[in-house]
Parts: sequence; C-alpha cells; structure tokens
Amino acid sequence: MIVFFCPDCRGKVEVEPSDVIEGDLLECDLCGAEILVVSESPMKFKLVEEDDF
Ligand SMILES: [Zn+2]
Repeated sequence: MIVFFCPDCRGKVEVEPSDVIEGDLLECDLCGAEILVVSESPMKFKLVEEDDF
C-alpha cells in the first residue's frame, strides 16, 4: 500500500502501487476529491479542480 495525504482535505489516502500511474486519477475516500498523479517517481500528486474541466 502507498499512503499519501489528500491535497484537499489532508486526509490519509491509501492506494495500491499498481493504481499509481502517471497521468491517472485517484479518488480521495474521505472527501471525494480527484487527485491527479503528476509523477510516479518521485510520487507527486495534484488536486484536480472542477474548474479545470
Ligand atoms: Zn480528500
């Protein structure tokens, strides 16, 4: 498991390493925010703002 902190609610989010794919989206279980995987190595995440769409 990979643990990181949601950029939105700062809650702990756990994901499988296989789910961390550059350019893919993860979802925060706590607040439902969509989090973009900016980079796999080193791992970088970015909150996807709804305004971006
Ligand atoms: Zn969150």
